[in-house]
Amino acid sequence: MKIKDKEFELYIDNTKIINKVKELAEQINKDYKDKNPLFIAILNGSFMFAGDLMKYVDVDSQITFIKVSSYVATQSTGNIKEAIGLQENIFQRDIIIIEDIVDSGKTLTHITERFKELGPKSVEIATLLHKPEMNKTDLSLKYIGFDIPNKFVIGYGLDYDGYGRNEQCIYQLSEEKTITKNMLNLVLFGPPGAGKGTQSEKIIDKYKLTHIATGDLFRKNLSEGTALGRLAQGYMDEGHLVPDQVVIDMVDQKIKATGDTNGFIFDGFPRTVAQAEALDELLTKNGTAISGMIALEVSEEELVNRILERGKTSGRADDQNIEKIQTRVGVYNKETLPVAAYYKTRNKFSSINGVGGIDEIFENISTAIDALK
Ligand code: AMP
Repeated sequence: MKIKDKEFELYIDNTKIINKVKELAEQINKDYKDKNPLFIAILNGSFMFAGDLMKYVDVDSQITFIKVSSYVATQSTGNIKEAIGLQENIFQRDIIIIEDIVDSGKTLTHITERFKELGPKSVEIATLLHKPEMNKTDLSLKYIGFDIPNKFVIGYGLDYDGYGRNEQCIYQLSEEKTITKNMLNLVLFGPPGAGKGTQSEKIIDKYKLTHIATGDLFRKNLSEGTALGRLAQGYMDEGHLVPDQVVIDMVDQKIKATGDTNGFIFDGFPRTVAQAEALDELLTKNGTAISGMIALEVSEEELVNRILERGKTSGRADDQNIEKIQTRVGVYNKETLPVAAYYKTRNKFSSINGVGGIDEIFENISTAIDALK
C-alpha cells in the first residue's frame, strides 16, 4: 500500500487488533470493578483504539480527550508540547490514559507527571503499541496491546503526515528496495532436457554474464566429495529436489564470491517459489534485481527422448533411467512450473519455443533479452 511517497506492508490485521482490544478491556473491567475511572485518550493517534476499547469497557466510566503533539513526519522531534484541552477535575479520580503507541516514552512520562500534580487517586496507561527498544524511561505501562520492533507503523489511528489513520489494520514501512547496480540478471527456465545448458553458453558468451547453474555446482561438489556434495547426492540420484535452504545458501555464497559482473544467469534455479522469493531478497541486498525469465518450452515426449540420448554420453545416473527422468519431469511440473507464474505476475516472463535449430532458438532468446535491457 502506498501512502504519499512511501510503501507500507500489512503488519497486524484487524482481527488480531480487535481480539487484543477485547482482552485489554476485560482486564480493565476486572481491575476497575466498582471504581469509576476517567479515561483520557491522547489525540490524534488513539482515537480508533479508544473508540474500540470503550465498546468493550463495561464499568461505570467517563472518557475525555486531550491533545499532545510530538511527531513531525517519521521522526520524533524531541520537543514535548503541553497537554491541551483537559477540562475535567482529576483530583481523586482513577485515571487511565489511552495512547496509540509508546515510542521513546518521553512525552507520556511528562504528561503523567503533570497529571500527578493535580492529585488523582491513580494514573495508569493503556497503549495499543509499545516499542521496548526505544523506551528508556521507567514509565509503568499497565496495559500493552503489542510490543513491536522499532519500525515505522501506520493505520488504525496512526498516521504518516496525517494520512493512513482510517486504515483498519496496522501497516509497517516496507524495506527500501533500491536498485543501485545496472546489471542484467536472467533466470533461464525450462524442464530438464529443454536445452538450458546449450543456450546458456551462448548467452554468457554474448552478454558476458556470470553463470550460476545449481545442478553443475552440486555435481562439482559431488565429484570433489564435499559434505555438500554428499548431502545432495541422494536427492539428485533419485531425481528429487535438494532442500531449498541448502540451494539458497549455496547460491548466496556464489553471489558473494563473485566480484563485479555485468550480471548473472541463473540456470536450474530458482526451482521453487520459495527459492524465487529468496533470490529476490539476495539480489535486493546486493542492490540489484532479476531482469527477466527466459523460459524454453519443449513437449514432454521430446524431453524424455533428448535426456535418454544425453544419458548415453553424460554419465549422469539421473539421465539414464526412464523412471528417474519421469520423476524429474513430474517434479518440474509440480514444484517448478509455479516459478514461471511468479515471474509472469511480475511482468518478467518471456516464453521461447525450445524446439528447432540451436541458432534459431538463440536468436529468439537474444531478441527477448534485448527487450529487457
Ligand atoms: P540439473 O542439472 O539442473 O538438472 O540438476 C540436477 C539435480 O540437482 C536436480 O534433479 C536436483 O536434485 C538438484 N538441483 C539442482 N538445482 C536445484 C535447485 N535449484 N533446487 C533443488 N534441487 C536442485
